[in-house]
Amino acid sequence: MRKTIVSLLAVAVLALPAAGKTPKKVKANENGNPFLTEYTTKYKIPPFEKIKYEHYLPALEEGIKQHNQEIVRISAVKMAPTFENTVLALDNSGEVYNRVCAVFVALNESDATPEMQEIAEKFIPLMTAHGDEIYMNDALFSRIKTVHDNADKMGLDPVQKRLVEKYYKKFVRKGALLNAEQKEELMEINKRESELMLAFGKNIMHDMSECIIYVTDKSQLAGLSQEVIDGAAELAKSRGHQGWAFTATSSTRLAVLNDADNRDLRERMYKLYTTTASHGDEWDNSENINKILKLRQRKARLLGFETYADYACDPVMAKTVENAEDLLMQIWRPAIKKVDQEVADMQKYADAHGANFKLEPWDYYYYAGKVKAERYSFSEDEVRPYFELNSVVKNGIFYVANKLYGITFTEMKDAPKYNPEVTVYDVKDANGKHLAVFMTDYFPRATKAQGAWMNEMQSAYNYNGVVERPIVYNVGSFNPPTKDTPSLLSIDQVETVFHEFGHALHGMMTQVAYRGLAGTNVDRDLVEMPSQINEHWMLVPEVLKNYAKHYKTGEVLPQRYVDKLIESSKFNQGFMTTELVGAALLDIEWHKINWCDDIDVKAFERSVAKRLHMPKIIEYRYRSPYFKHIFNDEQYACGYYTYLWSQVLEADGWERFQQEGPMNVNVANDYRRYILEAGDTDDAMTLYKKFRGKAPDAKALLRLRGLE
Ligand SMILES: [Zn+2]
Repeated sequence: MRKTIVSLLAVAVLALPAAGKTPKKVKANENGNPFLTEYTTKYKIPPFEKIKYEHYLPALEEGIKQHNQEIVRISAVKMAPTFENTVLALDNSGEVYNRVCAVFVALNESDATPEMQEIAEKFIPLMTAHGDEIYMNDALFSRIKTVHDNADKMGLDPVQKRLVEKYYKKFVRKGALLNAEQKEELMEINKRESELMLAFGKNIMHDMSECIIYVTDKSQLAGLSQEVIDGAAELAKSRGHQGWAFTATSSTRLAVLNDADNRDLRERMYKLYTTTASHGDEWDNSENINKILKLRQRKARLLGFETYADYACDPVMAKTVENAEDLLMQIWRPAIKKVDQEVADMQKYADAHGANFKLEPWDYYYYAGKVKAERYSFSEDEVRPYFELNSVVKNGIFYVANKLYGITFTEMKDAPKYNPEVTVYDVKDANGKHLAVFMTDYFPRATKAQGAWMNEMQSAYNYNGVVERPIVYNVGSFNPPTKDTPSLLSIDQVETVFHEFGHALHGMMTQVAYRGLAGTNVDRDLVEMPSQINEHWMLVPEVLKNYAKHYKTGEVLPQRYVDKLIESSKFNQGFMTTELVGAALLDIEWHKINWCDDIDVKAFERSVAKRLHMPKIIEYRYRSPYFKHIFNDEQYACGYYTYLWSQVLEADGWERFQQEGPMNVNVANDYRRYILEAGDTDDAMTLYKKFRGKAPDAKALLRLRGLE
């Protein structure tokens, strides 16, 4: 949500078979294209100084060509299909292809220069098409199916079976079991769905930039920061208007809803946002929603499922849509109850400060902020000097990893880097053995995407005595150091550093024989658990004492701030949780429908809200016409709930650390063995229970958020 682990692209790459120890078929490197030969650098870090823009596309084309030849060879083997000659061979295929894609995906997000963007326009469609093509290969699938159907007779071990199952399922979900006519229909559905999802996104983009509210009376701007006011004046000018102008893009919207003292302006902003892409004009998304959902229903039916919700939940940890709903409802009821209490507190504040009205949805952010400031007031500026980036990294995240898992981090000053701001570490296990390469890239650049993420430049492999260790990176956009001060972080940014490092540990510590099951290559409802659980160590007293020190005086962050931080983490959780769970339930409801006639989007949303007894003062976190997660992309379709699912695992898992001690090495050993090292080698719930000793309890989330 706030921080994504990987871009959509990288998911596509990770989901593909990754490179491995295949017979070296790469020809001599005639043109000096570094992607075409195995890297000779230490730990095979990409030799960035040798990689030029002109190398990407030729390497991709050559990589695809070689990969296709490999697939043909695997499919045409004369011998009967076995795990080794088919599934493992596929898992290990595509060496050059994966090498160039990994670097491209990393740099296209963290250094998207105009040249890189130009490359991307050709690179991305080629990469996507190649991925699709592999899963359309009938000869290859037929061999995989033979291995799959005879796995027991072949004497495969459980992990091998799991890898076979994973590939088999992926092919089946792409339509491999369909007849020619059905395959054609599926392709047509996918094509049409992509077009509609694209149109859905474009309509939102249109309204976000063209639907504008104008203000001419300066007094209405009270409460807004000068920066926001200047931006609004600029926008008005560019549109040929007097005064100030506001769109509903997130930073502007939140600034107005949080800070504007003028209630009328807040109401206008709230209505502007919540009517995005639903004005009944040509940019209205209602028709797109109906069309997309009908196509998805058709797809689910073709692939043997009753509804799209069944199709979406089948391959993940939740397994059934009922399990997902059940979990959400356990959180929903206490959350809406908490909202009543939060609203009462806000109303009391509003009444005491001369507001002569009953609070409405557009008052929520504003009064929540006022109550919070009254209760826990301290300014970010007061604590920033205690959160110096280098200390957060070395004395915070590295310290915890060392205490819990015994791993060490040594800077590799001479390692290749794609930018001078990157720091590269050699990560070693307690016995001194190389475990992974870890790169950090923490400062903003004009060419860097927003947000923070983790990904890999090389995934792990541990088969038949050949060990290849991962190269993992964390990227963020924190405040760079200035002439006088080092990089100082806000609380949220400290949390981001811990979060992304949790993903990094999941990638670096993996001990899995096969790439397709290694590292963060797990169910989408488990993937955010290691990152979210890692956030908890930022407030563990022993850890805080070690890293949160004033950059000038060395003084440890005073306890009064720590107390406020812990208390304020439970503030307004009724609202936050209700907004989120409401959207997750709406997403599920849409995908559970058996379609016949068109559905009125607004009426449908109202009926779901009514059935759930959703508080009138709260809107879905995303209303359907601008619910991009589920309609602009398929990855989170009927999958928005996974954020909550991961949060329950996080809360429940953290309780074991709380009960037995956050720095308890025995707990850490179990966590390492069953979660951080295990990848996707077993059913996610089975692994979780092995770590936890029991099934996760949704009430743990309620306890963590003060919603009981
Ligand atoms: Zn994450």
